[in-house]
Order: sequence, then C-alpha cells, then structure tokens
Amino acid sequence: MSDKFDLCVPCAAALFEQGSRMRKVREVPNVKLTCSRCGRRRYGATYQTDGGTALEGKKA
Ligand SMILES: [Zn+2]
Repeated sequence: MSDKFDLCVPCAAALFEQGSRMRKVREVPNVKLTCSRCGRRRYGATYQTDGGTALEGKKA
C-alpha cells in the first residue's frame, strides 16, 4: 500500500528526521504546492510512502 502526498521542504525534512520511510516521486521547480502536513502553500515536492519496513527487504 502506498500513498502520495505533497510536502513542503521543512515538513519533508522533519518527517525524514523522524525516520519516515518515503521517497520523492515528483519535484517541480518554481511551483508551489499545498503541503499536506502544515497546510501552507510553499515550494516542495510530492512524496510516496513505501509500506514501512518492506523497503529494507528490497535493498538486500
Ligand atoms: Zn509543510
């Protein structure tokens, strides 16, 4: 199960710091998006979650 969402740069950094497993799927330069975490219109990118620890297995 995966989910896509838009995140601004500060929110994405905060989530990564918390250990969230997600990858950037789309980034459009100079286009503002509405962050799904803080609700503000800022520059950012679209991210997708990859089903928790499943990502670890793929690496091996
Ligand atoms: Zn945000």
